[in-house]
Amino acid sequence: MTADHDLAARRDAALGRSYRLFYDRPVHPVRAEGVWLHDADGTAYLDCYNNVPCIGHCHPRVTQALATQAARLNTHTRYLDETIVAYAEDLLALLPPGLDRLNLTCTGSEANDLALRVAMQVTGGRGVVVTDWAYHGGTVAVAGISPSLVPQVPGHVRAVAPPNPRAQDMEAEAARFAQDVAAAFADLSAAGHAPCALVLDTILSSDGIIADPPGLLRGAEAAARSAGALVIADEVQAGFGRIGASFWGFARHGMQPDMVTLGKPMGAGHPIAGLVLRADLAEQFGRETRYFNTFGGNPVSCAVAQTVLDVLREEELPQNADRVGASLQAGLRDLATRHTEIADVRGAGLFIGVDIAVRDDPDRPDPARAAALVEGLKTRGVLLSTSARAGNVLKIRPPLVFSDAHAARLLDALAAELSALA
Ligand code: PMP
Repeated sequence: MTADHDLAARRDAALGRSYRLFYDRPVHPVRAEGVWLHDADGTAYLDCYNNVPCIGHCHPRVTQALATQAARLNTHTRYLDETIVAYAEDLLALLPPGLDRLNLTCTGSEANDLALRVAMQVTGGRGVVVTDWAYHGGTVAVAGISPSLVPQVPGHVRAVAPPNPRAQDMEAEAARFAQDVAAAFADLSAAGHAPCALVLDTILSSDGIIADPPGLLRGAEAAARSAGALVIADEVQAGFGRIGASFWGFARHGMQPDMVTLGKPMGAGHPIAGLVLRADLAEQFGRETRYFNTFGGNPVSCAVAQTVLDVLREEELPQNADRVGASLQAGLRDLATRHTEIADVRGAGLFIGVDIAVRDDPDRPDPARAAALVEGLKTRGVLLSTSARAGNVLKIRPPLVFSDAHAARLLDALAAELSALA
């Protein structure tokens, strides 16, 4: 038995069945920096998948900020603390006026859970509308609004088909989506579930990465509002500059959500997440109940999150995402002219989906080929994964320090693997 085999067996025995590993033969990284993961044998993998270390793996300023604050003080949010308040002010300044209160949590799941709690309390309703293959987290409440996770969503939830990114007329498709959202709220009301919230991942990441055209989600937002529901933008995947200089997925679409949930890249691997909400909602919620999270937003977490914001801005990483993302998409489109199994290339910034279909039949997803590409790319030293209900969309979501040279490396490996599989 090899050492990795042994570790995998111990992992199964200790962690159990709900824990999945990537890859037939799992990767076992032992250190990382920038966009590279290194395994014990010295193999380097180009990380085209991890959105959490947004400013690059093991960024020295992050590890320094973490160590310094951990050596000085780590308590919680119930003492006066400059680091926490200064971070909240800095972060809120990156959101539009009106979204001006921050609640700090440890995970995106907790942020969405809290958003639902606020929405249910403020609206008095429970009816929630989400997209067909959404993922919003793992608590009971948010697993229930994550059709990609649970076999069946509960009765107070309706899942609607996301916009089809390959529709001929995207305006008509956006209108169809908005009508479906309206119909879902009407259906919920008829079933006794008053409207509560529309929850949207603003890049529709697990639905297959659907970004264009900007404005695509605004009709749905308006439909939710006319139904009397609040709008929750889940920025756990799209947020913090991944989709480019507009910084937030909702901003790229010109939406005005009532609440915004944050996570993953916020602490570049350190567990900090949050809910940004309208002051009046926070006021009403805070009058009637309270929120405390033992670890959420502690001074160490805030020192780390502050450093992430500083580096994102100083290194102009959202702008880099726009620039490198656009040329990577162009390179992928060029590949599509030679490999007709690429039915579509789409995304925003450094969040890109490559739709793999049966060759010359773009409407028939080919998840088997997508999975084979992911495995084959790993053997070529490139890590990525898949998304969408059918599992046929390659999901490219590297740290934002991804350069043109890294993109060229990915394109070469993908071209070679597409040819090898052909
Ligand atoms: N929302 C979205 C869109 C996510 O992708 C995820 C995590 N995959 C979550 C929420 C939950 O975040 P966490 O794993 O930090 O609880």
